Amino acid sequence: MEEPEIQEPTFVNARKRSCDGCTACCEGWLTAEVHGKYMYSGRMCHFKGKGQCTIYDQRPGLCSAFRCEWLANNDIPEWLKPDLSHTIMYRRMIGEIEYINVMETGVKIDSTILNWIVLHALQNGLNIRYMVNGGWNFIGSTEFLAAITE
Ligand code: SF4
Ligand code: SF4
Repeated sequence: MEEPEIQEPTFVNARKRSCDGCTACCEGWLTAEVHGKYMYSGRMCHFKGKGQCTIYDQRPGLCSAFRCEWLANNDIPEWLKPDLSHTIMYRRMIGEIEYINVMETGVKIDSTILNWIVLHALQNGLNIRYMVNGGWNFIGSTEFLAAITE
């Protein structure tokens, strides 16, 4: 009897996420200089229009390269999209140590969101710096805790 042919498994790419109306990273929760104009806490980007960037094709590399953790990582639940959760997660470095910054966007972080993020960090061995009601908290390796709190 002829051996059945073994089929190669087919892998389908996970759906690529898009910002799709979210402008949380342009609203002044992060700090940046864009074409000589400063964005910082309480001051949104000078170039942010209603629901979109007014200089999208001329936006600087720091904008086009920015991927919040929700956008970059499909393991982050849909409901953690920044415009839904009022929380932005993004990767940063302190020296050689990577961590995830979890920033409230004007609303105290919801306890369900906070629990999910803390569990996610513990299960995956991530370093996180997370904001609760405007104050910073930290979870991570000894090296990270020493570096971030010095
Ligand atoms: S916060 Fe994330 S999803 Fe929202 S606009 Fe910025 S990169 Fe896109
Ligand atoms: S230039 Fe555009 S993409 Fe960059 S922060 Fe400003 S509004 Fe956002």
